[in-house]
Amino acid sequence: MSASICRITTGDLPECPRCAGQDLWRAGVTGAGKQQWRCKSCGRVFVIDPYINGDIKMIADRMLREGFPVPQVAVVLDGFVSRRWLYQRKKSCQW
Ligand SMILES: [Zn+2]
Repeated sequence: MSASICRITTGDLPECPRCAGQDLWRAGVTGAGKQQWRCKSCGRVFVIDPYINGDIKMIADRMLREGFPVPQVAVVLDGFVSRRWLYQRKKSCQW
């Protein structure tokens, strides 16, 4: 891992749950009417639900940086982000 600073996302783009890539294609809509995305890097197709907005990301990043354990952050941000997302977030960032 070469990045020394966590990538800050400024837009509203979702991330690939597998590789955290943001180079995505829209891949149609599910039967439930949710937008599907396909990752250009790894080919994974996924749905973002619930939507994770920039504020939530900022709070999550700050808590992780302060050394809060992921399960604790997950409790605070329950309903906004999943533990899985937090672990991936933590892994993709070097504080
Ligand atoms: Zn990917």
